[in-house]
Amino acid sequence: MTTRMLVTGGAGFIGSHYVRTLLGPAGPGEVAVTVLDALTYAGNPANLDPVRDHPQLAFVKGDICDGELVDELLAQHDEVVHFAAESHVDRSILGATDFIRTNVLGTQTLLDAALRHRVGRFVHVSTDEVYGSVDTGSWPETDPLSPNSPYAASKASSDLIALAQHRTHGLDVRVTRCSNNYGHHQFPEKVIPLFITNLLDGRKVPLYGDGGNVRDWLHIDDHVQGIELVRTKGRAGEVYNIGGGTELTNKDLTALLLEACGANWDTSVEYVADRKGHDRRYSVDCTKARDELGYAPRKGFATGLAETVTWYRENRAWWEPLKERAAL
Ligand code: NAD
Repeated sequence: MTTRMLVTGGAGFIGSHYVRTLLGPAGPGEVAVTVLDALTYAGNPANLDPVRDHPQLAFVKGDICDGELVDELLAQHDEVVHFAAESHVDRSILGATDFIRTNVLGTQTLLDAALRHRVGRFVHVSTDEVYGSVDTGSWPETDPLSPNSPYAASKASSDLIALAQHRTHGLDVRVTRCSNNYGHHQFPEKVIPLFITNLLDGRKVPLYGDGGNVRDWLHIDDHVQGIELVRTKGRAGEVYNIGGGTELTNKDLTALLLEACGANWDTSVEYVADRKGHDRRYSVDCTKARDELGYAPRKGFATGLAETVTWYRENRAWWEPLKERAAL
């Protein structure tokens, strides 16, 4: 029997990769996908071009805060994978209204409709940023939430609302908390594509503070693998961390990107004032996903980064208009 899946935010970076994978040769088969996406500045219909003509894909341009639309859609679907969000920390520091509206109210609108229509599995895609910042060691899923940026606070709120729907009403909610994603089709405001595209244009890259902030890098193929494992093998009401296993300071990351793009530090790096409230280090403990679901990241960082640089080198037509539009 065909599973009818609603994928919110399916025109964004990770959501579109999820949809392309689901409907591609390595997908599970027997799925029909409806993408619900408002096409904000970050949403790009071109991200779905490879599956545009797939008979099992439908696209609805709409807002997850639109209760009537969401209700109508959830009446026709069996499962939800929820990616739609305002996702860029720097923008949340400039103004948090859209973040609270989409990430909190939008999630609640989806959950309420999912409950009314007794939808099956609801995968809520969240972030490691909800845990705050950690100097040593790694967070297990049981660690308390301590978000610092407005973005992280909005995601933490939505995680709690999603889990409450499970505990209160028994809705089959599963929450994933992943580390920093990278790969092709990422909007060029995020650090890796921003730096690559600046370097390809012979421009400088802005390095925050002392460059010592540490992030764990997760390739989108591995993230999509993790989400599918959680959807198909995870347990209702549970949280699963999904990491990439490659921790780097921003300085080390910058050095690798400079090398890959043939640029040098002295002429290409500009130190800029640190991001307000900048978390020093993120690190997720993925033991639970490994032991329960068999999750393990498969893409080596050197290979993943080289492929990503090549993709941006070869796909100027994709990113140039986006940079112009976002005035980056
Ligand atoms: P993205 O910004 O590339 O895409 C977000 C998508 O959501 C866009 O297509 C946008 O049009 C859509 N959207 C925004 N507001 C909407 C609304 N009100 N109604 C319907 N659609 C709306 O984001 P991404 O990087 O693909 O992130 C996807 C999810 O993964 C988010 O929930 C994010 O919090 C989470 N996440 C991302 C990362 C990362 O490194 N990119 C890390 C951890 C968690």
